Amino acid sequence: MSENISVLGLGLMGSALAESLLAAGHRVTVWNRSPDKAEPLVAKGATRAATPAQAVGASELVIVCVLDYPAVREVLEDAPLRGRVVVNLTTGRPVEARETATWAAGRGADYLDGGIMAVPYMIAKPGALILYSGSRTAYDRHEEVLAVMAEPRYVDPDPGMAPLLDLAMLTGMYGQIAGFLAAAALVTSAKYPLTEFTGTLLVPWLNAMAASEPATAAAIESGDHRTEVSNLEINRVGMDNLIRTFREQGVRPDLLIPMKTILDQRVARGLGHEGLSGLVEELRIG
Ligand code: NDP
Repeated sequence: MSENISVLGLGLMGSALAESLLAAGHRVTVWNRSPDKAEPLVAKGATRAATPAQAVGASELVIVCVLDYPAVREVLEDAPLRGRVVVNLTTGRPVEARETATWAAGRGADYLDGGIMAVPYMIAKPGALILYSGSRTAYDRHEEVLAVMAEPRYVDPDPGMAPLLDLAMLTGMYGQIAGFLAAAALVTSAKYPLTEFTGTLLVPWLNAMAASEPATAAAIESGDHRTEVSNLEINRVGMDNLIRTFREQGVRPDLLIPMKTILDQRVARGLGHEGLSGLVEELRIG
């Protein structure tokens, strides 16, 4: 069924979201601070709003995708939010999502926060995922529309949960990228072809390692860090070898040092017999 939807913020991501909703046959009203970015969408059938208030007034479902949360508040400040569902797809921190949910509730709006796990060209294609948290009622009411943009997954009533999981997924990604970059520096220091190493050796190895992560997660949840696979003492010696090799090859081991520091701390506590899952305990403050 065709619905009225407003999209505020027409950067790369907001434009992709609005375009997917238009392509699915919805009546889309758009607004952007720099008005020219609305042109391509208007050419495809969107209605241009002159102000954020006009855009919010046009639809019950209001999607916001701008630079950051201060911009979200700036954009929605003078808009008639009562009775609206605000879906905020701007990337931010959990605390900002909770504050914005409370702020929106104070103005009579229902609030969903979303974490987009996709880049613009993936929107409305298989593989795109958006995590949602906040009002379950709002999610259930609009799930069908949300599914147009990307596979929607509701994770928790706490509005801060989608951004937290979004950031946790990015954390995993940056860890993997850091590992790849360090490996690339080492491999190229030996003049070995990097694309061949990456395709035939590294990626299959990382996939095999990733397959063991659910078991590590279960160990972390249970607090049982015993291992029959690879204890911290073995890993400490292994990382010493790594770091010494980096230096011998004329490569900075900087991306590996933080992990080594945590590992050494755990072993110094007499816990060298534990598995790698125990390192999580060292990361907890207090
Ligand atoms: P862009 O830089 O392409 O667009 C930024 C948008 O924010 C523009 O519409 C800009 O308006 C608007 N904006 C910035 N400041 C203000 C302000 N003070 N008041 C009103 N509007 C403002 O970024 P993206 O579209 O790529 O990103 C938007 C959000 O989506 C970000 O939170 C980003 O983290 C998130 N996201 C993006 C992904 C990506 O791959 N691009 C992936 C996942 C999430 P104007 O045109 O006038 O400058």
